[in-house]
Amino acid sequence: MNTERIDIVSGDREKGIRRAGEILKQGGIVAIPTETVYGLAASAFDDEAIKKVFIAKGRPQNNPLIVHISDMDMIISVAEDIPELAIKLAEEFWPGPFTMVLKKKNTIADRISAGLDTVAVRMPSSNAARDIIRSSGLPLAAPSANISGAPSPTTALHALSDLDGKVDAVVLGEDCTVGVESTVLALFTDPPRLLRPGAVTAEELYRFIPDLVIDRAILFEPEIGKTVASPGMLYRHYAPKTQTFLVNCTDEQFVKLVNSKENCAAICFSDEAADISGKKIVYGDKDDKESLAHNLFSALRDVDSLRAECVYVHAPNKAGIGLAIYNRLLRAAAFKVINL
Ligand code: AMP
Ligand code: MG
Repeated sequence: MNTERIDIVSGDREKGIRRAGEILKQGGIVAIPTETVYGLAASAFDDEAIKKVFIAKGRPQNNPLIVHISDMDMIISVAEDIPELAIKLAEEFWPGPFTMVLKKKNTIADRISAGLDTVAVRMPSSNAARDIIRSSGLPLAAPSANISGAPSPTTALHALSDLDGKVDAVVLGEDCTVGVESTVLALFTDPPRLLRPGAVTAEELYRFIPDLVIDRAILFEPEIGKTVASPGMLYRHYAPKTQTFLVNCTDEQFVKLVNSKENCAAICFSDEAADISGKKIVYGDKDDKESLAHNLFSALRDVDSLRAECVYVHAPNKAGIGLAIYNRLLRAAAFKVINL
């Protein structure tokens, strides 16, 4: 398939947004920028288009998709029995990197929910994303625009490198500002449950939901044979090809560990980089966890080009957006953790 490039940065933005909307209306699939990661979008009402999304990504059929809306009134076309709390949280965190799992409406394509009777809904803060949704006039189901299992794409080039030839178009927009996927909160359970950490932090949610439950799967390996609340957490994910280890330790310990290994690379903090003698990628300042989140997936993609036997990643602390970074790194490392 010839994948159309729609450049909305150096090309005509309005024309590009209109073109993306047209392709989506016609049942095509289009990679689009959002503030979290690039998404692979399709009409939430078109089961055939949704099927193409699963095929292009190689995504397991039982891993449901998030539906993206541009305006609050769109929510009633995808979800029903919306609780008061959802409205309150939407007022606080939308548009933004925050997804709520609600009771689904039967009008949406079955495949989106992968057999569940719930639907995940988000209103992105990216203007490009919301403009494309508006231009299509449709709620858009959009998982991350990567090959299933690979690190999520945070630039148009990442999306192109995974999906060129497999999708109708890629919108060449700005790099993603946040860099990790949205926070996912299940609201159909009582008390509500955090299924995936993101830039809207657990600490922020506690202000509205004092009895918030943090799903076990965020920090622990799923037990074999057990079902999980968020099927996406079952899978090896975000993983470079290079064998990856997550390391909990001080700067001094990290430098000592990586300098003692031959032909292993490091993904490290800026303040320790000068002391690391081997191959390394700096992913940000340890006191600026937004920068770590922003660069995380690029670092995981770039590490394979270092051709190292393995890579050690220095773990941030788990406060704030640190929980989201730690959660992604655990999966990238397939739960191989070194505690010093
Ligand atoms: P992605 O779009 O690739 O970021 O993946 C979407 C994430 O949202 C996955 O981890 C899914 O398991 C989760 N998700 C989507 N819909 C639901 C749902 N109805 N119930 C629980 N989790 C969901
Ligand atoms: Mg994904």
